[in-house]
Amino acid sequence: MTNLWQQPKTAFVYTDKLSQYQLSPEHPLRPVRLHHMHELMRASGLFDLANIESPAPRTATRAEIETAHDTDYVSIVEVISNGGIAPGMGEFGLGTSDNPVRHGMYDTTLLCVGSTLTASELVTSGAADIAFAPAGGVHHHAMPRHAAGFGVFNDAVIAMNAMVDTGLRVAYIDIDCHHGDGVQMGHYDSDQVLTISIHESGQWLFPGTGYVQEIGSGGGSGYSVNIPLAPYSLDAEWHAAFDAVIPALVRAFKPDVLFTQLGIDTHFHDPLTHLSLTTQGFNLAVQKLGVLGSEIGKWVAVGGGGYDLSAVARSWTMALATMANHELPEEVPSTFTSLDALTKFADTPPTPTDHRYLEDIQSFNSRTLNEVRSLLFPKFGL
Ligand SMILES: [Zn+2]
Repeated sequence: MTNLWQQPKTAFVYTDKLSQYQLSPEHPLRPVRLHHMHELMRASGLFDLANIESPAPRTATRAEIETAHDTDYVSIVEVISNGGIAPGMGEFGLGTSDNPVRHGMYDTTLLCVGSTLTASELVTSGAADIAFAPAGGVHHHAMPRHAAGFGVFNDAVIAMNAMVDTGLRVAYIDIDCHHGDGVQMGHYDSDQVLTISIHESGQWLFPGTGYVQEIGSGGGSGYSVNIPLAPYSLDAEWHAAFDAVIPALVRAFKPDVLFTQLGIDTHFHDPLTHLSLTTQGFNLAVQKLGVLGSEIGKWVAVGGGGYDLSAVARSWTMALATMANHELPEEVPSTFTSLDALTKFADTPPTPTDHRYLEDIQSFNSRTLNEVRSLLFPKFGL
């Protein structure tokens, strides 16, 4: 695997304020996951490396939010987050168990979106080769006029809108376990953004979309790519699917910028989903994305889902080290004490799936890959 970058200038865009906003006491998205991740990165010495910088995120503006969301929706988020009551907020997907009303939601989301915008600007200006904003990406289900799946304002759509406005073509790759439906919707009729989502099939998992046949519309036909996988796919099956489709399409598209959503709810311990990746399987994906990023020369990365605290801390620490071309030791440093029982960065792989079941997984995935290739490869001359 040849990564053309030797010592890429890597920006890690984060502030601990982003780990302090809890949607509700029992909500599965626990922002403290970012705090643990940050502590593990620090204990691993990543912030002592000469090629990692840690710029503070800025806050997004209302005008930036409105490039992706309708004004009345943005206003209602602002009103309820100041403690107001907004009749009909349910129509906007607000006040649900996934997207509860919470004081401060508007400002916190603006900071989160701002962290993604800061990362994008560092990369597009050339100040950094790679920028990673781990608080971003989790809004990938947010739609133009409604909140969904923990997402309120879709940071990826907003950041890519700004890039497209300056004439850049962007390849978006979403490796979250859930389909990146909000990002797909945000660029569904555009040929300037190639969206690729590899996820657990919507047959079994929220949001119930992300089928191969969703390929974009109008001028964007062929520029939305979906790779739905069978539940319990392991590292090997996930990577077989990635390798069969993603590098060829991205290279044929010839983007100016690579934008990746690095959700780690594909992990076999994740409580919400059913794919079975390990941290090392995830990190191998980050290495492959790094090869593509190095060929393109610009790589923006955001976080995403991930509801097992240990998997999030280890995977995103491994990701940042991979981005900066730094090799981590096998053992988690003993100075890291935020989470108990972490010994190694890599996992002991899950118990091998029953052989008969594995054949079902492989044949489901192979049907998916054949459909993607026959539907989309000819459009890219492949
Ligand atoms: Zn997810």
